[in-house]
Amino acid sequence: MRSPYPDVEIPEVSLTEFLFADGFGDRADAPAFLDGTTGDQLTFTEFHGLVEKIAGGLAARGIGKGDVVALFAPNLPQWAALFHGILRANATVTSANSMYTGGELAHQLTDSGATTLITVSPFLDRALAGATEAGLSADAVLTIDKAEGHDSLADLVSSGAPAPELTTTADDTAVLPYSSGTTGLAKGVILTHRNLVANLLQVHVMGSVTDQTKIMAFLPFFHIYGMTVMMNQGLHTRATVVTMPKFDLEQFLSITQKYAVDRLYIAPPVAVALAKHPIVDSYDLSCVKTIFSGAAPLDGELGRAVAKRLNCTVLQGYGMTELSPVSHCMPDDRGDLDLNSSGFALPNIECKLVDPESGKEVGVGERGELWVKGPNVMVGYLNNSDATDATKDADGYLHTGDIAVVDDEGVYSIVDRVKELIKYKGYQVPPAELEALLLTHDKIADTAVIGVKDAEGEEVPKAFVVKQASGADLTEDDVMAFVAEKVAPHKKVRVVEFIEQIPKSASGKILRKDLRARETEQA
Ligand code: AMP
Repeated sequence: MRSPYPDVEIPEVSLTEFLFADGFGDRADAPAFLDGTTGDQLTFTEFHGLVEKIAGGLAARGIGKGDVVALFAPNLPQWAALFHGILRANATVTSANSMYTGGELAHQLTDSGATTLITVSPFLDRALAGATEAGLSADAVLTIDKAEGHDSLADLVSSGAPAPELTTTADDTAVLPYSSGTTGLAKGVILTHRNLVANLLQVHVMGSVTDQTKIMAFLPFFHIYGMTVMMNQGLHTRATVVTMPKFDLEQFLSITQKYAVDRLYIAPPVAVALAKHPIVDSYDLSCVKTIFSGAAPLDGELGRAVAKRLNCTVLQGYGMTELSPVSHCMPDDRGDLDLNSSGFALPNIECKLVDPESGKEVGVGERGELWVKGPNVMVGYLNNSDATDATKDADGYLHTGDIAVVDDEGVYSIVDRVKELIKYKGYQVPPAELEALLLTHDKIADTAVIGVKDAEGEEVPKAFVVKQASGADLTEDDVMAFVAEKVAPHKKVRVVEFIEQIPKSASGKILRKDLRARETEQA
């Protein structure tokens, strides 16, 4: 099934050339990025100047093609400048979740082969713990602000070294975000410059973002949704991107009002607040024209409640890190579509819905695993050809692990997930990672983690735990506390059940669907 939209032409250029080669015309002195909390801004000309200087500074430090630089920082205009500075230096970015513990960060640094880590001083403890574990010296850790003993962004740009020649091609790896995909631990997702350029052009057809749009960016740039749909789409369309380093409802509403932000990108938990929280009425949000929800399923009724309360259009889209990320969304002029759906396939995309049991393609109205093919599909997972082969088939289709249905107009709805992945408030929680951690507890004999719905309908990680003979006194709170101190907050186990045995197949694979069925029976 092809997208109903005509193909767009994807130029064979790097993202750097695509975004910056033609100058900024009458947007040169307009704000490209505006820090909503401080009011600090970078115009397009200033932003581009900073990107060039960063590239020069990085090159002077010996960073160039083939090198990987990790970004571990909250959403700031400087995050965007560093991202593009690293690409401009012909190097690759790996974007780390800013909530990671030192241990989680170390995994990404080691796996991606990052040789430099750029952070902010409040994150230095975790950054240094991660860097040390990954074998990086303190010299390789830079900070955006000033921090004793580390080179800062100001030091990097003050080198005055010219940016090197841009030798990057469309086929080079631009970014390595981390995703667990359908199974296992977090893996580096190889996204090329072509992937990122393609997704910008595909998304552009669906939306009506212009150089007058003000885009809200509190969703993290380290995640591909914030990176492509907020940060890079803003640069592509010459819109203004208003950043917030972390989400706070009141601050978010006040910044939206103050800067007359007209386009909000959210994940479903924020829709709950916008629909229900009394404080929303204290702000004049008449500036908001469009709210776009992605990263997890939006409840259609909730979306309608938001649209009614804010008198704006609410749209939903679907994506995945491995898809750069957007493969489906509602176009701006189709706010009439069922908000439980995720809209149409983007241009240049072909989809199949395949029955996971029979492997046969299904038709309109039938449930099947969504397979996606197009120029935004990742190259593969870094140093993990088994995982790549299990996810991307020989015809180039990415098997998403999500179950969808399509109607006769070509509108897709995501109705279930067959992969292991749990999403807590839009953030990835890989069960395999929590299971491996739980098994290190000396009173735990076996375990399996699945996603269950809490009282608010939010998906949360639940651990089924089999105690060791010595573990009679182990409590649910003990299990939750053990995990909580070792993982980022979104990965905390929030429900524990002790059971006699974990259901497994003959080959020893956890039968998650049996555990899910058990949950449904008990509900
Ligand atoms: P990530 O790679 O972190 O972006 O996670 C991708 C996964 O998030 C998808 O495979 C889906 O399971 C889920 N997801 C993203 N958008 C939606 C949506 N609109 N509806 C349902 N699930 C979604």
